[in-house]
Amino acid sequence: MAGWAVVSLLLLSSPGPVPAEWTYRAKVLGDGALGLEAKFPAGSATLLTLPSRARPFVQGLEIAALDRGPFRSIDLEWSAPECARGCRLRYRFPLIEATRRLAGVAGSSLFDGGLLTSTSLWLVRPEQAPLGMRYQLRFEAAAGQRFLSGLSPIDPYTYQGPAEHLSPAPFAVLGEVSVRRFEFGDRRVELAYPPGRFKVGDRALELWVDRALRAVTDYYGRFPVPHALVVLVPIPGHETGRATAMGFGGASVRLEVGVDMSEAELAQVWELVHELTHLGLANLGPDHHWIEEGLATYLEPVIRVRAGLLSRERYWRELQAGLQNGLPTPESRGFNGTRSWGETYWGGALYFFLADLQIRRATHGKKSLDDALRAIVAAGLDLRVFAEVEEVLKVGDRATGTTVLFDLYQKVAHRPYPVDLAPIWRSLGVRSEGEVVNFDDRAKEAQIREAMTQGRGR
Ligand SMILES: [Zn+2]
Repeated sequence: MAGWAVVSLLLLSSPGPVPAEWTYRAKVLGDGALGLEAKFPAGSATLLTLPSRARPFVQGLEIAALDRGPFRSIDLEWSAPECARGCRLRYRFPLIEATRRLAGVAGSSLFDGGLLTSTSLWLVRPEQAPLGMRYQLRFEAAAGQRFLSGLSPIDPYTYQGPAEHLSPAPFAVLGEVSVRRFEFGDRRVELAYPPGRFKVGDRALELWVDRALRAVTDYYGRFPVPHALVVLVPIPGHETGRATAMGFGGASVRLEVGVDMSEAELAQVWELVHELTHLGLANLGPDHHWIEEGLATYLEPVIRVRAGLLSRERYWRELQAGLQNGLPTPESRGFNGTRSWGETYWGGALYFFLADLQIRRATHGKKSLDDALRAIVAAGLDLRVFAEVEEVLKVGDRATGTTVLFDLYQKVAHRPYPVDLAPIWRSLGVRSEGEVVNFDDRAKEAQIREAMTQGRGR
């Protein structure tokens, strides 16, 4: 009840209009379903909505005017004329059943000990969100359970986010999960996983996550977002499964981890750092998916090699092999809008590798891609928001005093961009022969090569 009490106090203490906020209160009921109540202020849209696949699970949807009058059942069309003057909703959502049936949708999955979900699947809302509208969710889990979301926390039970990004929303987890909190200055990461399920042991699992978080923090100089949720979902076997970062109004990472994985096997996993790297760049839209994935593909091994989690030899060997996948093919039309795996991941990585090299050349080693990416994070252009690609690249360029990111983008985005990599490897002094990598310290740009894997000031 505390959630409504806070809202009522706000109403009493402010003589002005009703707070411009959508508020939700969710509670796990005795049968495991969610009981939900929502309030929307005057001026709200009069048609309610939910993703079409989740909609059939909503039970007993009722509406009333805000703070007065009885509830009535809502028709099948979900029309809600009361919301023009402010309205209240109440309904049930069988979360476990829905998660089972919606497996894979917006990250839905049941696992031994809990479930992974997205609030976008069960928060019924007005069809349009006015500009700047925020929403608040207070969640009461059952005894012994925890609920955590990648949304911004207000207190341990309450989260908030921008209503325009209610869908998609960051991941959330509910269940008998262990929660470990990592602090990096004023920034915080919550790790949630079902305890006792992983053979390697909970302590080793947490240390492994801690190393990845520290490596990313070291690269950026700070953790890239104020708050993030990382959920480890147990799956059978010795390998990792699906790995996804989800932002919009918050930041979250879901990683499926094989319960039989050993410490040595975990140490080989690159996906966690890859997903964490996504937190440091805004959502850029489907046409620029290659920039999002290209950055994560280029940066993940850079971060791991600098943190000592990957050898220098392996770093260069895999970069040389990987970048071949990003070179133009007869089908290439430029990277914007590409759906090809090679162009999306390695074409994007090629873009960032060349940009890093060109920034270092143009500034005589004083600046690098590191400076551009730190500036992008400092400007808040991270996974919590959507941004235009030009804005992001210009913030990066300003930090290096160059126009490398923007100019190179213009070259690769709209037409095939052939690159002869052999002279670059010669200049950097990197020569791979099978599994063996030789470094030539007398090569013209050997210093740039070393700086790329060492970082500055280390
Ligand atoms: Zn990715």
